[in-house]
Amino acid sequence: MNDAALRSSLADHLRLCAEFGVDGVSRDRDWRRRSGDVPCAAEAVAGFPPDQGAAESVDTLDLVRTDLGDCTRCKLHSLGRSQIVFGVGNPAASLMFIGEAPGHDEDVQGIPFVGRAGQLLTRIIEAIGLRREDVYIANVIKCRPPENRNPEPDEVARCEPFLFRQVLVIKPRVIVALGTFAAQTLLRTKDSISRLRGHVYTYGTASLIPTFHPAYLLRSPERKRDVWEDMKKVRDLLQRGDANPTH
Ligand code: URA
Repeated sequence: MNDAALRSSLADHLRLCAEFGVDGVSRDRDWRRRSGDVPCAAEAVAGFPPDQGAAESVDTLDLVRTDLGDCTRCKLHSLGRSQIVFGVGNPAASLMFIGEAPGHDEDVQGIPFVGRAGQLLTRIIEAIGLRREDVYIANVIKCRPPENRNPEPDEVARCEPFLFRQVLVIKPRVIVALGTFAAQTLLRTKDSISRLRGHVYTYGTASLIPTFHPAYLLRSPERKRDVWEDMKKVRDLLQRGDANPTH
């Protein structure tokens, strides 16, 4: 890369960081220190990663989608969904984002995280030097709950096996759980996202990082800095190549 291209790419990166709430650049040593220098070892073992037995080698995303079919397993199929929102991205992604459930825009387009929160998620992904198409994005729930209400326990129970299969097929090295709902579902806990975030968990063969949901960031932009801290951990884990030593 020549000097001009490098400057332009750096400028792009800084613009994204500024947009994302990182409001300054300093030559201060502490500022430059990466979160990889800070101990962030796995601090908890998730209650549920599915058994990674023989099935994982034969399962594929196409098979998971076929099994999901025109799903009527829970009441959401009759409560106004337009279509199932399965997931999008690189099927061999090292990094997977898991949100809650489709909203209106996602229900219309059939793609997760395409509305305002999704646009912010795209910028979050770009802020760590990746593109949307490099990662895989899915939700705990594949159908839009009416009025964007929270998913109900029976809906989660019916839908989560498909998410777990997606995780097993993709085998990400790092999973980012976006918001309370995804974090609680994956970690089998009732703890709030404020309590969960800031830590790195082990989820099967992946490292799991809970962070605030982009929709929450739209309402509370002052929390973007926390998300940036979490995303630096994600970036460091991916760069270190040992997101989870067993993987
Ligand atoms: N919020 C989510 O949790 N998922 C989406 O796909 C969109 C908004």
